[in-house]
Amino acid sequence: MTTSSPAMGYDLQRAISPNRLVGLWRMMTGYRIKYITATISLGIAAVAKTLTYMLLRYFVDNYFVSQTASISLTLIAIGFVLLALTESGFTFLSGTLAAQTAEGIARRLRNYIFDHIQKLPFTYHDENQTGELIQRSTSDVDAVRRFYADQAIGIGRIILLFAINFAALLNLNVRLAFISIVILPLIVAVSLFFFRRVSKAYESYQEQEATLSTTLQENLTGVRVVKAFARQQYEINKFEQNNWEKYLRGKRLLKMHSLFWPISDTLCGLQMLIGYLTGALMAINGEITVGTYLAYAGLIVWIIFPMRNLGRIIVQLSTGMVSYSRVMEIIKQTREPLDEGSYTPQTEPQGHIRFENVGFTYADAETPVLQDITFEARPGQVIALLGSTGSGKTTLVNLLPRFYEYTAGHIFLDGIELNRYPRRYLRQQIGIVEQEPFLFSRSIRENIAYGVTHAVTDAEIEQAARAAAIHEGILSFPDGYHTLVGEKGVTLSGGQKQRVAIARTLLKNPRILILDDSTSAVDTETEAEIRQALQNLMNNRTTFIIAHRIQSIMNADLILVLDHGRIVQSGQHADLVSRPGIYRDIYEIQTRIEVELEKEISSVN
Ligand code: ADP
Repeated sequence: MTTSSPAMGYDLQRAISPNRLVGLWRMMTGYRIKYITATISLGIAAVAKTLTYMLLRYFVDNYFVSQTASISLTLIAIGFVLLALTESGFTFLSGTLAAQTAEGIARRLRNYIFDHIQKLPFTYHDENQTGELIQRSTSDVDAVRRFYADQAIGIGRIILLFAINFAALLNLNVRLAFISIVILPLIVAVSLFFFRRVSKAYESYQEQEATLSTTLQENLTGVRVVKAFARQQYEINKFEQNNWEKYLRGKRLLKMHSLFWPISDTLCGLQMLIGYLTGALMAINGEITVGTYLAYAGLIVWIIFPMRNLGRIIVQLSTGMVSYSRVMEIIKQTREPLDEGSYTPQTEPQGHIRFENVGFTYADAETPVLQDITFEARPGQVIALLGSTGSGKTTLVNLLPRFYEYTAGHIFLDGIELNRYPRRYLRQQIGIVEQEPFLFSRSIRENIAYGVTHAVTDAEIEQAARAAAIHEGILSFPDGYHTLVGEKGVTLSGGQKQRVAIARTLLKNPRILILDDSTSAVDTETEAEIRQALQNLMNNRTTFIIAHRIQSIMNADLILVLDHGRIVQSGQHADLVSRPGIYRDIYEIQTRIEVELEKEISSVN
């Protein structure tokens, strides 16, 4: 197979069609010549087979029944051999081409889906389960591949075999030809009847398989939570229940198939019997020659064969079509335009951010999550967000890189409305250090260099790691910066992960920073190191910090206290703590806890 083809660039959005067969046909763009060549090859092979029977008829009638042959026996023998070679050669060619077509289309489809998923907005991922996406990008794509490898070529094969052999039958004897297909309408009717049922059964089977994948995927991702809450048995039961449901649906699908086959075979057998009997009677009555009968006996098999396969393919077609729809549901989602924006900034932003009566409501929600948010962050300032879980802190910072679009008010970056900036630009200028940073199963070096697209030197990586207070830690790993992270490499502690994430953001060097402060989760020594690393990171950048502990935001330039999506208090620490309100309450609770904790520790010592 070629590694690249011009068809690779085909935009699969164009294959979206309410008519699934039309869509599948469009999806073949760039591969149609191959497919048509494959079908023609099949046609040549079929003609060769049919000619074999015609040659047999000639041979029997002119050598056995009468000695009227004008062609020598040797030539006839050569004819048989040549026909056999032609048939097998073209059958092979057709199979190869069909497989190439199918693999090529499937490969393009997989690449497209991956590319597409990368470009879908956050809202899509909020609403769709990972397991479901995996299922559609693997199992369903494979069903589409089988459609091209077996069914699409199979349809061509059936039409050709049927047309050629029917023409040959007509040539033998018109009446016999029509008698050979009397049952065809019944076979088609039965096939269509099963087509609908198999479609439904297969769709529900695929859905259940997706549910099972989701259960498995969530379980593996959340293995720590499962263990921490000792919920293994609950998870096992849930999996078994889903698996049982899949088994039942699989059984139903299988039942459809096992019902269809005997019915279809009986009908085909009946047709064969009718054909053989009529033919034999006609030969006895002298209406046809013995040679004709023998040829007929061979040819009728090749008329019944496509009929029988027609049923099989109609039924299997349903699986390809259902999977096509499932795949298309992803493809027809609108991508998030990364480079669109009515304002094209030429330089880095200064990082001056102003919120004016900003409101936000999630797409599927009725009540706003943020309301009337107004504040200003001057370049280099630190803005802290404090508030109970669900008060809207994460949502607020997610508006900055335009992960979501604010639904009311205005946000200005350097005086220009935020939604006029291209998303790509904003995301390049904003660094995010999450509470639980995600590292890829790649080397530490690759993880640090992840945010930059240009080549970076070892010195630059090391500088970032030093500022993030993780350089020494990395050197202590067996392969230093080339140590793999994750299952096949070292397991990093929460604090180490966070510092690698800080190094990654330092290297990216964004003007604006979003930090999810989680230093409360690490021990005091690491905390001091992380604090230093964070200081280095925040230096000269406009920083938004989602705070959980007042201690870490005492020096912030502006503290916003959120409650139910509104700013209920704002100001600096000294000011806020002197007034009654949520802030002082939290401060008092946290201080009391810490004092008690210290007392307890000193009493133990
Ligand atoms: P915080 O970060 O302060 O804990 P969030 O911003 O995460 O708060 O959540 C604020 C509110 O928005 C919560 O009620 C939460 O349930 C809701 N919410 C968060 N993410 C989504 C989402 N993707 N879709 C719908 N609602 C959401």
